[in-house]
Amino acid sequence: MFLFPRSKNRPFHFGPFPLETLKRNSMVYGQEAKRPAVLLSGPDEEQTGLGGVSSAYQRLFSQFKEGTAAPKTAPLPMDLGPRAADLKGAAYFLDASMAGICEIPASAWTHPPEGAAHQHALVILLEHARLPEQSNLAFSWIGKSAASLHHLRITEIAASIAGHVRNMGFDARVHVAGDPGIDIEKLSVLAGLTVRTGDVVSAPFIGRDFSLAVISMNYAVAVDTPLHASSLKANDLQYWWGKNGAQSGRERRRRNKRASHLSRYPMETVKRVDRPTTLILDDEVPRVPKRAEFFQRALFGDLGAKAQKERGRFAFKTPLSVSLLDLIRALVPRQDGPVASNKAVDVGNPAENTKAIKSLSYYLGADLTGICEIPNYAWYSHRADGSEITPVHKYAIVMLIDQGYETMEGASGDDWMSGAQSMRGYLRGAEIAGLMGQMLRKKGISSRAQTNADSEVLQIPLILWAGLGELSRIGELVLNPFVGPRFKSVVLTTDLPLIADKPIDFGLQTFCGSCMKCARECPCDAIPFGDKVMFNGYEIWKPDVERCTRYRVTNPKGSACGRCMKTCPINKVVDADGAYLTRVASWMGINAMALKPLMVPIATWLDDKLGNGMRNPVKKWWFDHEIIDGISVDPPKGTNQRDIDPDRQVDAAKQKMAYYPANVMPAPDQQDLKPIDRKAAVKAGQLLERPSEALLRHQSGGA
Ligand code: SF4
Ligand code: SF4
Repeated sequence: MFLFPRSKNRPFHFGPFPLETLKRNSMVYGQEAKRPAVLLSGPDEEQTGLGGVSSAYQRLFSQFKEGTAAPKTAPLPMDLGPRAADLKGAAYFLDASMAGICEIPASAWTHPPEGAAHQHALVILLEHARLPEQSNLAFSWIGKSAASLHHLRITEIAASIAGHVRNMGFDARVHVAGDPGIDIEKLSVLAGLTVRTGDVVSAPFIGRDFSLAVISMNYAVAVDTPLHASSLKANDLQYWWGKNGAQSGRERRRRNKRASHLSRYPMETVKRVDRPTTLILDDEVPRVPKRAEFFQRALFGDLGAKAQKERGRFAFKTPLSVSLLDLIRALVPRQDGPVASNKAVDVGNPAENTKAIKSLSYYLGADLTGICEIPNYAWYSHRADGSEITPVHKYAIVMLIDQGYETMEGASGDDWMSGAQSMRGYLRGAEIAGLMGQMLRKKGISSRAQTNADSEVLQIPLILWAGLGELSRIGELVLNPFVGPRFKSVVLTTDLPLIADKPIDFGLQTFCGSCMKCARECPCDAIPFGDKVMFNGYEIWKPDVERCTRYRVTNPKGSACGRCMKTCPINKVVDADGAYLTRVASWMGINAMALKPLMVPIATWLDDKLGNGMRNPVKKWWFDHEIIDGISVDPPKGTNQRDIDPDRQVDAAKQKMAYYPANVMPAPDQQDLKPIDRKAAVKAGQLLERPSEALLRHQSGGA
């Protein structure tokens, strides 16, 4: 228990609270069934501040409350338990606080849906986020709109899962407060999430501060038993220490005690420096067109017909990832918009704005937020259609969304979950940045959300300059000391007066210099074992992006790939619930500079010995399904089943990496294909400068 993460043996679909340890009472079912249905009223629609913004998003997500089921059902086990695990796992993956399942008694309906009878309900409970301090400007920005923001989030979670169920071939409909049709609170009692006292329902560990949503469906799954009234008194000593491997009361208290503008991770303890720890020759970094980006090149056919065909589905070919993609696409039109002509009076103080923006980002669900001024080279030069991009905003608010440690534990990194992990991060990011951007535009501040679906900026230099990480051996990936590489980013570019953060130095250059784990475990050998080079003005362990893109796009036994992220020793949970030995290994990781390079092999050896990077079957909650022609099937080519290979040795000198510098990129407006020339790209790699050579040349004024 002290050596290994206490949650290691806890199935992910049990959720963060120890609901499984609570006393149950099946008699409640009969009592509730007799009660007439009561409808929950929705939040008031506030038309100013964030409230007015969130109701527009609410309308967007509401389109996905119902829809058409796939024409054939997925191959599913007869055992209803794994079906329930898949649904509850999806709910927790999307950050629900509690999830339970019940049969729907006739008395719960006020308006049963037409068509297929819905006998089962997945009930989701979302604990409300902590409001910023009253002295924080974000408190007034949120104002009376807290309820509508929670309402929006729970609609997003429920709509994503309903789409997942429909993609498996079943009818499913979302019900949230304010909808006619079903008694949501009654179902929360029957699904074992809340206890009724008179007319009021309360949840164990949480109390009354939550929102509810129901997904009714004709999909049969294992049901839960209602809670016993005594479960409301379950906040005991065992809960405090993390009962059954659940999140402990101590960790909840630690998070709640931190100032609202600080993330849950102690980024304020990490050393700050004036420039990123890798050399950037600012005047030599070219602005690049979107057309040159390798996922775009795959789309245009530059990587061949197979990659072009698969590019349209590679990260969204499972029931859940397709559902998430539908919501992501709906958000794109709201990334930018008209700016109010009158500037609000409350946004003139950069220090207050900075604090408030960070608090608001955490309130809305970001995991780590940093701010930087935008260097010119971080703007793409041209959009995919060839039109020119003019840099407009001064600042970037950079937000990271954790892709989920426990789900990552259950996966190989390149199996059928990887795409959904990315889509979840992208959806959450687009929602947060979109809401913030629209709120600022209403205040007269030009702002634009820059998301994976549509971005005018390159996110990697911005993550670096915003002090959220250092460049890692994985290459075009910044690594954070607390979540490692396990995140997706979203950026809000804005003219709001802000104070920029400084870059960080936590010794990663030393650590990655001796640790090769990601390179060793990459399934297509795209990460270099050798030294850093200079590429387009950056000092970087330059990966073979063509190889990586091709593998991610055409992976036949999984959806995309994030195996480097999965196996990196800095992919950890470092909080009050982390195991002590894991925390020691992590401490060694993030203090590598002080420890000297000699210690790094010991830290990585320990990481392998602890089994980090192996799959933990206890954490796997999903089915391995692939969507082919609109139907979920068993993947015809199977599933990547990989664990770590500590004995694998590669001779860095023999590793053939292909590099495509700016001078061989397609033209910004090239709409036909430009086949890649891999031979030339391998040769180009052999001519790249070393960072020390580039620095000397630059200092002596050489071009
Ligand atoms: Fe290799 Fe996969 Fe990482 Fe690409 S994403 S570098 S293929 S491990
Ligand atoms: Fe660096 Fe090792 Fe992580 Fe690769 S696996 S990014 S070398 S710490």
